[in-house]
Amino acid sequence: MRIVLLGAPGSGKGTQAKMLMAERNVPHISTGDMLREAVAAGTRFGHKARTIMDAGDLVSDDVMLGIISERLAQADAGDGFILDGFPRTRQQAEDFEELLDQLSAPLDAAILMDVDFDILMKRLTGRRTCSVTGKLLNIFFSAPEEIDECTAAGGELIQRDDDNEEIIGNRLDVYRRQTEPVIEFYRKRDRLKTVDAEGSIDEVHARLQSAIG
Ligand code: AMP
Repeated sequence: MRIVLLGAPGSGKGTQAKMLMAERNVPHISTGDMLREAVAAGTRFGHKARTIMDAGDLVSDDVMLGIISERLAQADAGDGFILDGFPRTRQQAEDFEELLDQLSAPLDAAILMDVDFDILMKRLTGRRTCSVTGKLLNIFFSAPEEIDECTAAGGELIQRDDDNEEIIGNRLDVYRRQTEPVIEFYRKRDRLKTVDAEGSIDEVHARLQSAIG
């Protein structure tokens, strides 16, 4: 299974991709996570990436294509992948198409996770990660027991650096200007499926499953 998950920041791509990975036994490849790892490792590239990410802007297409080509060359991606956060520009989509052609590994589908703007804002401004369990939580949507579970384990609720309101505004703007054309790119090629991504994680997951088949 080779799929791309498209959708604005906060549309639930990461959460759903992790669930799919466990069920379908293909890796979840998140370019955002890969960049955050580079930042955490403190490499020179990591420092550069951090400045761009902290502003909510995009890392260059060339760099991203390099990162993805290397990642797809690893053995675990041989049977497929779930891409989350890539492609994010029309140029990336075109380059990615060429790369998949070379690998003779056509994409099965690009799935758009569709969410209303107000819900996106709450999902993003409320998003936290438990410092001990690593669980993704949301101060507006998670059950109180889930939040208590983290606190009881001695954890703190950590907010991503780029999840504050000003940067979120820029990320959503960048999404509209740079990433929405990617939706058209796949629609024109008859590869696009849209999933209503509002509601509970399990409801969205059931819709995603039936879209993938
Ligand atoms: P994400 O976790 O997918 O929201 O990504 C976090 C940040 O990483 C984005 O706001 C961008 O700065 C950067 N990033 C992730 N994926 C890409 C990509 N495909 N192209 C350019 N920048 C990216």
